[in-house]
Amino acid sequence: MIRYIDVKSRARTEFIDITTQVQDMVKSTGIKNGICHLFVLHTTAGITVNEGADPAVQRDITAFLNKLVPMDPYFTHREGNSDAHIKSTLVGTSQSLFIENARLVLGTWQAIYFCEFDGPRSRKVAVKIKADE
Ligand code: ZN
Repeated sequence: MIRYIDVKSRARTEFIDITTQVQDMVKSTGIKNGICHLFVLHTTAGITVNEGADPAVQRDITAFLNKLVPMDPYFTHREGNSDAHIKSTLVGTSQSLFIENARLVLGTWQAIYFCEFDGPRSRKVAVKIKADE
């Protein structure tokens, strides 16, 4: 069974903390130990795990990605958002997390971020939660 998390972005480039939604979804399954797969169903967004305590880290990452991949006019893709497609490929569109005692196994400072690169838009993350055999 595939579940979905809805995400609404408000800016063109934005990191959105979805850790609580994922954790709540894990809890709702009643699964104590297993694995949680997350997959972003878009070509101009991504998903990453990084620092959740200091918002300056997300600001620095997005600022760096914008500097690394500018909205360069030599791109040939007619939609004009090739920078967002490239950032999606750089960041990646999936993450897998362990579940132990009904909790996601994350480091003290880690959070799960949906990464918007061509917002604002309504987005979806597919979630597959599997119990250990
Ligand atoms: Zn495009």
